[in-house]
Amino acid sequence: MARVTLEHVTKRYEDVTAVDDVSLEIEDGEFVTFVGPSGCGKSTTMETVAGLTRPSDGRVYIGDDDVTTLAPKDRGVAMVFQNIALFPHMDVFENVSFGLRLRTCSDDEIRRRVEQAADIVQLEGLLDRMPSELSGGQRQRVAIARAIVRNPDVFLMDEPLANLDAKLRVHMRTELQRLHRELGTTIIYVTHDQAEAMTMSDRIAVLNEGRLQQIAPPLECYNRPANRFVAGFIGSPSMNFLQGELLADGIVTDNFRVDLDPGEIPSTAVGDAITLGIRPEDVHLVTAADDLPGATAPIDARTDVLEPMGDEVFVYLLLAEDAGRSMAEKPATAAGQLLMSVTPDTEIRADQDLEVVLDRSKLHLFDAKTGDALCHGVTDRSESEPGETTTAN
Ligand code: ADP
Repeated sequence: MARVTLEHVTKRYEDVTAVDDVSLEIEDGEFVTFVGPSGCGKSTTMETVAGLTRPSDGRVYIGDDDVTTLAPKDRGVAMVFQNIALFPHMDVFENVSFGLRLRTCSDDEIRRRVEQAADIVQLEGLLDRMPSELSGGQRQRVAIARAIVRNPDVFLMDEPLANLDAKLRVHMRTELQRLHRELGTTIIYVTHDQAEAMTMSDRIAVLNEGRLQQIAPPLECYNRPANRFVAGFIGSPSMNFLQGELLADGIVTDNFRVDLDPGEIPSTAVGDAITLGIRPEDVHLVTAADDLPGATAPIDARTDVLEPMGDEVFVYLLLAEDAGRSMAEKPATAAGQLLMSVTPDTEIRADQDLEVVLDRSKLHLFDAKTGDALCHGVTDRSESEPGETTTAN
């Protein structure tokens, strides 16, 4: 087991900076996932740990050792990739034990380690099968067993579940978590799938355009995203974003106004362009928000399209351009949009005029230029002075 440290790691190709000054520390035994859209530098960052890519700048440490220029075989890492390369003419036992046989372990030692690994990934009884006789999930488990028998300090996994069907992926997610619990080995995992990252990891490292955006436990990235990119990438469906301006006592957007405690806004920030973020589950029908402390004033909306998902319904809302003005006066194309999620028993239909409120405690404000988070959750005068109500105008 080992700690992994990246210090200002940069990888440049001719005209692309694949990894741009990434520094992070992964604790001994931690499960950390690199996540981000395709091409953001996840694999290249991991390859600098594996030794498959040498950084243009920066250092990589495993434990206390500077491994920046070491060959992969000398780093104590084992890799599992998306494309499972099993030897087709060898059975499962031979595939799993291949690396050990190269290292001239004794037969007894090889059998003991293969059986132990097979037990961990639940391949007992399949050791004499050929790869062609295995399902996709079983083949992936053989690849993981092959990594386990090497007894690495660090597991490196690059989209290992990407080629499996959706049901098997979910199943393998729980298997990998169990594996991590049993072995306690440091795992670095690469995926573009934020659901995979959220469900398995101790911490996730969100990358975009080669740069580290945030490294934090999954729920912290969800509840306190460092910037607009993380806010939009983590969570499904994605957070709603609306452009607005800071006033001395609130925020105004094209579609509505949110009153804020004037004490919260530094006078130097008044007039600044901001982006307001709210997740679909934090938009509520006014009729369902009686007991929601700190709801905003009602916002006029009209339902556009409904997407029933079974456990929830996604409601695409069109907002009147001016708060308080009826939707009928506005062509739909001039409206802002907001996605709301409601429970399936909610009585709602397409083309319905209604009012919604936002949960102030779940509002996120971002600098409109840099995208950096300014705050998560806001209060207003009605909280500090009960009895005073806020109105949209
Ligand atoms: P991800 O794993 O997030 O999809 P990669 O780390 O594979 O992204 O790639 C990051 C960027 O670096 C991409 O723009 C990719 O095209 C570029 N890149 C990766 N490997 C090479 C290479 N060997 N030569 C040139 N460009 C590369």
